[in-house]
Order: sequence, then structure tokens, then C-alpha cells
Amino acid sequence: MTATVSGLDKTTLELSLKSIKDFAKDRLPDEKLRELDARDECPLEIVHAMCGDELGIQLLMIPEEFGGMGGGAFDVYRLCEELARIDLGIATSVLATFLGSDPIRVGGTPEQQKYWLTRIAENGLLFAYGATEPAAGSDLAALRTTAKPVSENGRVIGYKISGSKQWISNGGVADAYTILANAPGGPSWFIVEKGAPGFIHGRPEDKHGIRLSNTAALSLDDVYVDANRLVGGVEGLGLVQAQAVFGYTRLTVAAFGLGGGWAALDRAIPYSTERIQAGSPLSEKQGYTHKLIVPHVARLEASRAYIEEIAGRIDSGESSLHTEGAIAKYMATEAGNLAADASIQALGGYGYTHEYMVEKIKRDVRITTIYEGTSEIMEMTISRDRWQSHLKTRGQHYHEQGRVFEALHSRHPSVGANVVALALHGLAEVMEKVRLGRLTRYQHILLRLGELIAYAECAGSLARRAALLSEGQLNEKAHRRFDAMALAALSRIFARETARTVAEEGLAWAVGAGGVSDADMPAFETSLGLPAVHRAQAGLISDMDYIADVLYDRVDKRAGVSA
Ligand SMILES: Cc1cc2nc3c(=O)[nH]c(=O)nc-3n(C[C@H](O)[C@H](O)[C@H](O)COP(=O)(O)OP(=O)(O)OC[C@H]3O[C@@H](n4cnc5c(N)ncnc54)[C@H](O)[C@@H]3O)c2cc1C
Repeated sequence: MTATVSGLDKTTLELSLKSIKDFAKDRLPDEKLRELDARDECPLEIVHAMCGDELGIQLLMIPEEFGGMGGGAFDVYRLCEELARIDLGIATSVLATFLGSDPIRVGGTPEQQKYWLTRIAENGLLFAYGATEPAAGSDLAALRTTAKPVSENGRVIGYKISGSKQWISNGGVADAYTILANAPGGPSWFIVEKGAPGFIHGRPEDKHGIRLSNTAALSLDDVYVDANRLVGGVEGLGLVQAQAVFGYTRLTVAAFGLGGGWAALDRAIPYSTERIQAGSPLSEKQGYTHKLIVPHVARLEASRAYIEEIAGRIDSGESSLHTEGAIAKYMATEAGNLAADASIQALGGYGYTHEYMVEKIKRDVRITTIYEGTSEIMEMTISRDRWQSHLKTRGQHYHEQGRVFEALHSRHPSVGANVVALALHGLAEVMEKVRLGRLTRYQHILLRLGELIAYAECAGSLARRAALLSEGQLNEKAHRRFDAMALAALSRIFARETARTVAEEGLAWAVGAGGVSDADMPAFETSLGLPAVHRAQAGLISDMDYIADVLYDRVDKRAGVSA
């Protein structure tokens, strides 16, 4: 790992987040968001104000050498969470510029980077990212758009691009587009400006959610671009350039899931303090808080812990974190969806109406498990990569991590690291059983492993985060809603859920795929540590009580005990 290479200082980050919050309070009250949602309208002037002189969000994401502020992955995660808390459609419009310009940022020639990134910084240029096609969604290799070289005197002077793109965010409103097309040398990114002859966009899609974001199909009919619009100046690098930013871009969508989930819970929590049923507020009913609020908080904070670790690693110069980006996206977006759905339930009939906003948040956050790689593709990405780690270490990969968490437990006995260790050892045993039974021939088993792996790794991150916070070592730019005691309780709650999920689901899938004979069953159950996993559930309800008290401000913070 190299030294920190990028990022804003803490004060600048906090000022930026505050100005975004203030802007939203002033310009995007709930009533306006509801109206725009009902009219299915992208408020372009607001997006321009945010990505232009008024708010200058675009500067955060552009390197300093091109006139930006040089925000790093950690800053961008904090920013994306904040934007998602306001409105995920607007957040998508803002992010589309950065997705669209990412191929240039990572793979452009120095001239392309200077020209385009400076224009985004100085003129608030809006970009769109044109990868998906009607027949090429998850499988981008099925790409059909073509780029035919145009030559003069034996030299390629430009390309003619033909094809269509589907579901492009900012598709109808962008100033410039990066378009993935098959050149003779392979898939390549091209920069196409709006208004180019032969380039048209369709009507905005009538979507389930993120209705404040413009999504449109694009059609290209022999659209001519000069050779200097081929990103990087070399054909065939398109998929590599797209891969190179997956770690980063998936982290941003993970932050969207986190922001959407918390936005919903932060409406359900205050609501439940005022809604009286059976003589007392809902917030005082354990069957309500422990089902609809607390588990979602634990899952969201486990996702946050993972996101923050990965963002820190990207800012320290690590690259190729696409599996980690996939884990972050998978966990945070699934958790965000579940939290938003539970929040509708938490508001009862009111939650089902437009006025109370949680149903809009739920419709909005739904997209996060679909775009930038669906949850199923994330499961596959995670599983394939960690499967290789399992094979290369002869089954020791997660056992080794289990031992790391046993050591953490001896230094920090309250963060649930011993239970994380149980989950990791159990995971190693499940994977070994899958190997012995050659069960990865079942795609479903492979994908379920992806889920178990994501849970186990996030549980590890949350335990580490709780330990760091208690030592005063957490990244100074980290989000701080919970103190060390609350974070430790959240970690114990999530570790228990993870250990149980890994052992019980792992067992069910291995048996379900015919990988465990009757004779093998007792030994397999023992290797999964099932009795220990079940014993580790002791204390779950009191930890949940404690978190409910923290959320509802019922804890005497100095003493750290429930009031
Ligand atoms: C609102 C919105 C905005 C978007 N913005 C952009 C954008 O700006 N730029 C852009 O390029 N794209 C964008 N997209 C496209 C988005 O990334 C794709 O929709 C997504 O990647 C899924 O592709 P698909 O829709 O073709 O679904 P498919 O790939 O057809 O998938 C359908 C279902 O099948 C599952 N599936 C697919 N392959 C497999 C497999 N091998 N094994 C098991 N299950 C599988 C998927 O997980 C999914 O559940 C956007 C989409 C939407 C809806």
C-alpha cells in the first residue's frame, strides 16, 4: 500500500456536505420533490446549479490539475450518501457526469483529460455514460454498436459510430457522452457531443423510481467523430477502462444504497416516537423496533464499515478493487432496499401514501440493486474471485481471516470479533464442502456463496471499525453517528446474524445440492460450529434494546447505559 494520494481535508469535506444540505433544504423541500416525482420531471436547472457555479459539486470529483478540488474516494462516498439522502434521481444525474467522464479520467490521453475534465470543472458540462444496449445489459461483451474507421491517405482520421444504447442516465440532457462501441481493435470508448449529426435520444423513460433523473435511449446512425475522440487513442481498451473504475464507481452506488436506506429510517424513527398505538409510542414497542428499525441499522452500518475501508484503500493508492467494490455495492444496496421497505411498514398506512415520502424513497432506492451491475452479477463477481482465493490457499483463505479475528477478540472482547471468526471459519468449511462435492457446477450455489462471503467480509469490517473507534483511530473523515459503545453493539448484532446465515444457509445449500451424505452430516454440522453459532446468539435482545435506546436517545450517554 502506498501513502495517501488524494482527498480533501476534513474541514473542506464537512463544509461541502453542509452546503449541499443547505442547498437542498432551501431548493428541494419535500413538496417540490413530490411534485417533480409526480410530473416525472428532471429539474435540469437544479442539476446545473449543483454541478455549476452555485454549488460546484463537480469540482469535488475532478483532480486539482484540471481545476477541481481533487476529492478522493472517501470524499466521494460521503458526498454520494448525502446526495442520495436528498433525492436519488438528482444524485443519479450528478453521478452520471462522473461515470461518463471516468473512462477519460482513467484512460484518456493527457490532452483528452485536460480538455474534457477542465470543461466539466469550469463549465459544469453534463456527461452521460453509454454502455448498456437493448441486447447487452449485464453481458457487455454482447455489444453491437460499431465504430468504423474513416481513413485518409492511409491514416485513420475519425470513426463513424452506429448502434443504439438503452437506459442512459442524462441520456436526453447531457452535453457530452462516452459511448462504448466495437472498433476493429475491440470495444472502445468514444466521446460524442450532443447535436452531432445522426445522434438522437429517445423520450425520457417512464420509470418506477428516480423519476427526477432523465433516462433515455440513444440512437447513433453513422455519427462521425474525429480520431481524437477515441479515449486513450488506442482501440480495444474499452472494457479494461470500464473495469479499472469498477471499484470506485460501485462504491458510489453503494453510498447511494446507504443514503437511501438511512433517509427512509430517518423518517421512520421520528414518526414512531409520535405515533401512539395501544397507549404508547411505537418507538417503545420492541416487536416494532427490533423488526423494522434495528436490524436495518446494523446492516447499513456493516455496509458503511466496508465502504469506508475500501474508500480508504483506494485513496491509499490500491487499484483493481472490483471484487471489493462489488461487495460494498451488493451489501449496501440490498440493505438500503430492505431498510426502505421496512420504513413503509413502520409508517403503516401513511407509509403507503406519497405524502410521507418513504414510498418514494423505496421506489428510488430500488434502482441501486440494478444499475452499475445487478446484485446477481455482484454475487457472481464476488464468488468467482474469492473461490480462487479458496483454491489457491487450499481452503485456508477464510480460516486465516478467522484467526485474525480471534486475535482481534483478545484485544477487543466487546466488538463481536469472536463471532465474526465463527462466521469466517464456517464459510471456509462451506466452501470446502462445495469444492469436494464440485457444487459450483450449480450456478445458484456459486451465487449464494457470493452472498455469504459479502456478509462475512462486512461483519469483519464492522468489528474492525468498532475496534478502531474505541482506540480513537478511525479515519477523521469517517461518518460518526454512533459512539464506540453503540458501534460495538451493532457489530455484535451483525456478527450474530452473519454467523447464523453462513452456517445455516451454507448447510442448507450444500445439502440441497446433494453435497452432504447422511453419514457426513454430523461431521459437517460440527465443522460449521453450529452449537457455538447458536450459543453466540446469547445477548442479542439486550444489544438490540441498547441500539433502540441509542436511536431514540434514551441512553444516558455518560454512563453508557439505557435510561
Ligand atoms: C434507471 C436506469 C439508469 C441506468 N443508467 C445507465 C447509464 O447511465 N449507463 C449505462 O450504460 N447503463 C445504465 N443503465 C443500465 C443498467 O446498468 C442495466 O439495466 C443493468 O446493467 C442490467 O442490465 P439489463 O437491464 O439488460 O438486465 P439483464 O442483464 O437482462 O438482467 C436481467 C436479470 O437477469 C439477471 N442476470 C443477468 N445475467 C445473468 C447471469 N449470467 N446469471 C444469472 N442472472 C443473470 C440480472 O441480475 C437481472 O436480475 C441504467 C438502467 C436503469 C434502469
